[in-house]
Parts: sequence; C-alpha cells; structure tokens
Amino acid sequence: MRALTVVPLQPNTLALSNVEEPVARENQILARALALGVCGTDREIIAGHYGEAPEGADRLIIGHESLSEVVSAPLPGAI
Ligand SMILES: [Zn+2]
Repeated sequence: MRALTVVPLQPNTLALSNVEEPVARENQILARALALGVCGTDREIIAGHYGEAPEGADRLIIGHESLSEVVSAPLPGAI
C-alpha cells in the first residue's frame, strides 16, 4: 500500500512510500483510509521538530486524521 512517510527528526523527508499492508494485532481493529487530512502536528513532524518511527523502522507513517472504513474488528464491541 502507499503511505505518506517521513524520517523522524530530519526535515523535508516527506515521501509517498510503498509500505507493507498492516495486520491487526490482538485487540486491534483494521481500518482502510478513504480520505486523509494533514494537520498542524503532521506539518511539525515533516519539519523535523519531533516524531519517532516504530521499533525496527526508519520511517514514520503520518496522517493520523482520516476517514476510514473498518475492515475487521475481531472483538465484539471493539468499534
Ligand atoms: Zn492532528
């Protein structure tokens, strides 16, 4: 899948990257983004002010404000 990513703490590394499809872990839902917003927090991360990639990754996926549809919700009442 494609995602907007940055190298945290390095300004202007924003890229449209190909990343692995996510897999829902225990007690998590899996959602497919339909529309994405870029907010002030994303702009600060892109500027290199802060941010942290997940353990074992070099890049951080940004765009936490989205309109999404639920693909799977393994637990009753999880959504
Ligand atoms: Zn935000």
